[in-house]
Formats: sequence, structure tokens, C-alpha cells
Amino acid sequence: MSGELRDDGGHFTGDHICGTIRISARRVQGEDYGIPFRWGEVATVATSATTPEQAMQRTFVHELGHCLLYRLMEQEGREAVKALIKPVFREAVDMSRTVSERAEENWHEYFCETFSASVYHHRELTSRDPVGYRMVQQARALLEVDHGDS
Ligand SMILES: [Zn+2]
Repeated sequence: MSGELRDDGGHFTGDHICGTIRISARRVQGEDYGIPFRWGEVATVATSATTPEQAMQRTFVHELGHCLLYRLMEQEGREAVKALIKPVFREAVDMSRTVSERAEENWHEYFCETFSASVYHHRELTSRDPVGYRMVQQARALLEVDHGDS
């Protein structure tokens, strides 16, 4: 798993590589934050934060999603996790239910953006993408079942 290095508006806002999260403090108004939230129309959930600090927090939650996905793949196996999430991703894209443009990129980004939506736009997620909401709940339940062993 290589994680990701993101380039949003000329600079990265955050990344996750094998369990390590980096968050950039450099935020440009109107690019990285301060964009009114509209379901499916924002670049990322983080861009609709109203302050740079909130944008950093939202980016952190997105990257935490990558960490959860990484742990889930370690626990359940990559193919099992892909089989769980990729069909939900494909359906959400086909039905235009995804929360953001980033969520349309691939099933990893879909999971992380939907995870962010479950934190910041919870009520709207349950009505706009209920299958994605259940996917997040299922992933969290799977992680909580096995976490006490080591
Ligand atoms: Zn991401």
C-alpha cells in the first residue's frame, strides 16, 4: 500500500502512507476551504470547511479514513475489503450519489469521502447515499469486532 500524495490547488493538503498521516497547514481560501457545501458538487468534503483549522480537521478525518481502510485490509484481506466497497462505489458513481468529486476517483477515495460525510454531513449522507452510509457502518463494525487481541 503506497498511500497517497495529494495535489490540491498546487499543494498537498494531507496524505496517508502505511499508518502515518500528514496534514498541511497551508490552506487557500476559495480553494481548500470556504466553498459552500453542495452534495456531489464540492471537490472534497474538506473544502466546505469555513476556516483553515476546520479544513485541516476535515482533511485529518479523510486521512483517518485511509488509515481505517488500511487496517481493515490488514484484518480482512485486500480482496475481501475491495469486494465489500467497490460495488458500492460503482453504484454510487452510476447513480450520482457520491458526496464529492474526489469520491468519484476510486473506491479508496469514495470510502474516505463517505467516511468524512458520515462525520460532517451525517444526516445528508443517510438520505443521499444510504448504501454508502451502511458501508461505513459495516467497516467500523468489522474493525471494532477484532481490535482487542494484541
Ligand atoms: Zn484520499
